[in-house]
Amino acid sequence: MRVLPLLALTAALSLQGQEHEPAAATKAKPKAKPEAHAAAPAGQVATPAAHGPAPSADTPDSPSAALTELATGNARFVAGKRVRTLDTGHDVAMRAALVGGQSPFAIVITCSDSRVPDALVFDQEAGRLFTIREAGNAPDLQGIASAEYAADHLGSKLIVVMGHTSCGAVKAIREANGKPLPGNLWALQAGMSGLLESTPHDPNEEAKAHLSRLEEANAKRQAQAILDRSSLLHEKVAAEQLWVVPALYHLDTGKVQFFKPLSLAPAASAHH
Ligand SMILES: [Zn+2]
Repeated sequence: MRVLPLLALTAALSLQGQEHEPAAATKAKPKAKPEAHAAAPAGQVATPAAHGPAPSADTPDSPSAALTELATGNARFVAGKRVRTLDTGHDVAMRAALVGGQSPFAIVITCSDSRVPDALVFDQEAGRLFTIREAGNAPDLQGIASAEYAADHLGSKLIVVMGHTSCGAVKAIREANGKPLPGNLWALQAGMSGLLESTPHDPNEEAKAHLSRLEEANAKRQAQAILDRSSLLHEKVAAEQLWVVPALYHLDTGKVQFFKPLSLAPAASAHH
């Protein structure tokens, strides 16, 4: 199942040292520096298509570089200055470059909500993000397996578990308040079980404020749940090959609020 990491070809452009804070990194920098090609590890260098998508040349090669790349891409999106996904003239070459394989540097687990287009939000083109979408960004076991596949076979360095403001799934869970929802929606409730108990409503709090707290709590809880349910991902985090970062996308500003990467509690070293 191992896929040739074609686009790891030029994984050498280091973004380390930049701030993770998106506002500090609004500069668009889509083009790879030529020397990045020379610095790619031997055996990973593939010949780019004649008019290949130059932006793919700067694939991040560490968890921190991957996070920086998403933060800088989001800063471009917030500022209305996307660069990677605008030039449709690259589409044909981009497809050609990806036929042989993929090496998405980040896994994005987010809500199915149509207002959360992750590739645009992070200003990334095809081949760079491995996306898993479930209502409420609450992946079931198959979703977690998908993340394992990307981390283990495709070399992804980062998992972002991204909730969003005005999330209908979180709202539905709140309004159901434990009563069963129709159809198969029970599965959604099961996937988000414990959320209301973890973040109870303060009687003096407006519903909107409570929803905001629930959305943030859900992103953090789902990120932790993924680690708790996957020994494979747990080991990668322990080996510092992977970060798991909760985040919240703000529909109004377009900004992604990143929370701290999960750290492993000492007791969590016992594998499941
Ligand atoms: Zn949602």
